[in-house]
Amino acid sequence: MASLDIGIDLGTSTILAGNPSRGVIVREPSVVAVNKRTSKVIAVGHEVYKMIGRTPDHIDVVRPMRDGVISDYKMTGVLIKYILNKINRNHLIRPRLIICVPSTVTGVESQSVIDAAVEAGARQAYLIEEPVAAALGAGLDITKPVGNMIVDIGGGTSDVAVLSLKGVVCKVSVKTAGNTFDEAIAKYIRHNYNLLIGEKTAEEIKMEIGSVWDGDPDIETYAKGRDLVSGLPGKIKVTRKELVPYLREIAGVILSAAQNALERTPPELVGDIRTNGIVMTGGGALISGLDRFISKGTKVDTYIADNPVECVAIGTSKAFAYLGKLFDGFLDTASHIH
Ligand code: ADP
Ligand code: MG
Repeated sequence: MASLDIGIDLGTSTILAGNPSRGVIVREPSVVAVNKRTSKVIAVGHEVYKMIGRTPDHIDVVRPMRDGVISDYKMTGVLIKYILNKINRNHLIRPRLIICVPSTVTGVESQSVIDAAVEAGARQAYLIEEPVAAALGAGLDITKPVGNMIVDIGGGTSDVAVLSLKGVVCKVSVKTAGNTFDEAIAKYIRHNYNLLIGEKTAEEIKMEIGSVWDGDPDIETYAKGRDLVSGLPGKIKVTRKELVPYLREIAGVILSAAQNALERTPPELVGDIRTNGIVMTGGGALISGLDRFISKGTKVDTYIADNPVECVAIGTSKAFAYLGKLFDGFLDTASHIH
């Protein structure tokens, strides 16, 4: 029988799926739109993303994994099914899945992800720990007794982990990540300019001019929203420099997580990390200056992995080669076999 292996990165902002030979095949925002009146799913992924901030009252936009907690199992199942249908139109082949969930997800939640995967058509489903997937995706060799540090910054969570000899030595997660920068930008603009902007606008401003580094050249952009005084549409100019102090504060929380992890790491492994550097993954790693900020604060060279957004998904797809070979990289070896 033909077989199909699919790795899925169930991120708080983005779901990516791929397989060992083709790399990442599907990339969709982790959002579902539901009609509140009928409870029917109206749209999934990109389709919903276009609607954010523009939906009528009776449509609910659900982010089932927001903040690294699976708040809505049913919608998580809908997302997994949608992704599988996109990759595997031939339903005669039941794929093997490895799924990476945010590392703040609990055991009970993880089990429900496995159940959802099986219900969505998986023949077997495994969960992999996020830092292990990120490390494999970044091309690190975690089968050696050498310490590596991964800092993965997603939308809802930042996860710092030290890995060595096939497993996670120490791990620190904080719910301060990409979305937190967006929220700070929206709050700043509301307070200083009386302008209410949507979450997508805030994210665009972050990507365009956001920086956590004082010395970056100053640039500017425009923000459109609703003027809170007149109630009418408004537009203001915002510069990088005025945002830096607020964004730095958030970067400070992520830095503390990295420092905290270093303090809890055995000295030999700290020595390895000093030699090898810290590797950053996740879309949140791309905010300007964050690598330099972490490097300065930890006194350890810090690098952004190639293709940080796809890193976890690539690692998850590669992980089929490691099934049964990692000490504690896989969370649930009791997969379901149908
Ligand atoms: P998750 O794994 O939680 O789904 P991702 O790794 O996809 O998250 O990262 C999503 C976060 O990365 C979002 O907050 C997004 O705004 C941010 N991001 C993506 N690209 C950039 C960029 N070029 N600059 C700054 N932030 C970015
Ligand atoms: Mg992620």
